[in-house]
Amino acid sequence: MPGDRSEAAIPETVTIGAGGRVLTLQLAATRLHFDAADLRRACRCAACAGSRLLGTEIVAPPGIRLISAASIGGYALNLSFSDGHARGVFPFTYLAQLATETAA
Ligand SMILES: [Zn+2]
Repeated sequence: MPGDRSEAAIPETVTIGAGGRVLTLQLAATRLHFDAADLRRACRCAACAGSRLLGTEIVAPPGIRLISAASIGGYALNLSFSDGHARGVFPFTYLAQLATETAA
């Protein structure tokens, strides 16, 4: 994995915007942006990880949206998607690697 930032900070706020198309994490000095389809493709739940092991690419349905982002134990988010997929746990350290970053 490129850009391994193992000490990712816990975000102050987690926001789903643009009608569910964008996830934004607000940190002290930076803001991280994620596209819902990118997150869906990056899901690491057992089912998605298994598909990847078999060489199957995870496909995000067109127009996929985020339904919810629930904090888990202060270290991760459980993301639910509009295709019914809701098992993905995204540690903040992993999200930091996937993010598009802008100054806060
Ligand atoms: Zn998954």
